[in-house]
Amino acid sequence: MSKPVTDLIHHPYVPPAGFAAPQPGVFKASTVIFPNVAAIRARDWKHKTGYTYGLHGTPTTFMLEERIAALEGGSQCVLVPSGLAAIAAVNLALLKSGDEVLLPDNAYGPSKALAEAELKGWGIRYALYDPMDPADLQARIGPGTKLVWLEAPGSVTMEFAPLAHLAQVCRQRGVTTALDNTWGAGLAFNGFDLGRGDRFLAGSGADIVVQALTKYPSGGGDVLMGSVVTRDDALHQKIKLTHMRLGFGVGANDVEAVLRSLPSIEVRYRAHDRSARALAGWLQSRPEIAQLLHPAFPSSPGHEHWRALCGEDGMAAGLFSVVFDARYGSARVDAFCDALKLFKLGYSWAGPISLVVPYDIPSMRRAWPHKGTLVRFSVGLEDVEDLRADLEQAMGALRG
Ligand SMILES: *Cc1c(COP(=O)(O)O)cnc(C)c1O
Repeated sequence: MSKPVTDLIHHPYVPPAGFAAPQPGVFKASTVIFPNVAAIRARDWKHKTGYTYGLHGTPTTFMLEERIAALEGGSQCVLVPSGLAAIAAVNLALLKSGDEVLLPDNAYGPSKALAEAELKGWGIRYALYDPMDPADLQARIGPGTKLVWLEAPGSVTMEFAPLAHLAQVCRQRGVTTALDNTWGAGLAFNGFDLGRGDRFLAGSGADIVVQALTKYPSGGGDVLMGSVVTRDDALHQKIKLTHMRLGFGVGANDVEAVLRSLPSIEVRYRAHDRSARALAGWLQSRPEIAQLLHPAFPSSPGHEHWRALCGEDGMAAGLFSVVFDARYGSARVDAFCDALKLFKLGYSWAGPISLVVPYDIPSMRRAWPHKGTLVRFSVGLEDVEDLRADLEQAMGALRG
C-alpha cells in the first residue's frame, strides 16, 4: 500500500474515451509517458504519429497546426511563440554563414532589425529591395542569395507589392521565398497561389508562409504566437528540426485561446475591414489629409496589385495609414493622436480595440515621397460612427 501522496501522483483513474465536445482539450506536457523501453527507443515525433515530449507536440498543438495549415492552404505547420519568432525560425533554418537574405524595403520593422543586429553578426548578409519593382529584386539576387522575404502590404506605409511577379522572379532563379502573410491572414489571398489563375504567373507562390497568429487568428490582443506553414515536406522537416533545436515551444493555454477564436476569424476580419474602409473613406475626404494609404482604395500605391490578387470585391485587413497635410507639423499630429479617446496609443493590431501610432517614415525607409507626418490606424470592433466622431473631435486638436 503506497502513501497518499504517491497514490495521488499515480492515481489509476482514466476518464472514459469518446468525450465529444466541439472544443478540443487542453493538454499540457513536458513529460510524455512511454509504455516500455522499446517504445522510447522507437520514438518518432516528426510525423505526428505519436508523442515524445511537450516541445515536439501535444494533441492541442497538433490541432492548431492542422487548422492553420488549412487556413493558409498549406500542408504542414510549426507553431512558435510569436510572429517575430516565426520570421527568426525561418531565417535560422535556411541561412548559414556566407549566405544572403533579401528583405523588402517596407518589411515589418523588427524583421529588418533581426537581420541588421543578429544575422549580420553570424555572417549572414542582408540587403533591401524595392518591393514595387520586380526588376530591382531580379538585379539584387546573387549567387549567395538563399532566401527572399515577401510581404504585402508594406508595414505602416501600406504599398501593395506585385507578390506574384516577385515570387516568379525568385522561382526562376531557384531562390526560396517566405511570405509574411499576417495582413492577409490566410483569408484575403492564398500565399501559396499568388498567380490566381493567371497563366503567365501559374505556379507562382511562396514556398513558406508565416503569420503572426497574435493578430487575426487570436483577435483578442492578449496572445503572442506565430506559425510557419509549408507545402513541401522536406522544407517542413528542415524548419521543424530547427524549431526543436531552438526550443521555440508554445503554451497550451495560448494555443487554446487561438483555437477558440479561430472559428470567428472571417466574420471578425470582414467587420474590421468594413469599418476601416468607412473611416478611411471619410478621412480621405478631409482637407487635413494629404494621402490615404489603404490598398483597397484606387489612390493608394499598389492598389492594382491588391485588386489582381484579392479580387475586385476582395478583402482587406482593418489597417490603414494617412499622411497629414504638411502644414500640420509633427507636434500638431501628436496632439491629434493624444486627443483621440476611443483610439488608444499602442502597437499590434487585429484586436477589439482601435489603435493609433504616429510614425517617422523618413527614418524607416530609403525613399519616401511625402512631406507630412504619417499616422497608422488599426480599426477595432467598436461602433464605426463612434470611431468617426472620435476622429472628428480630435481634428480640433490638430488645428490647435
Ligand atoms: C505583428 C507582426 C509581426 C510580429 O508578430 P508578433 O507576434 O508581434 O511578434 C510580424 N509581421 C507582421 C506583418 C506583423 O504585423
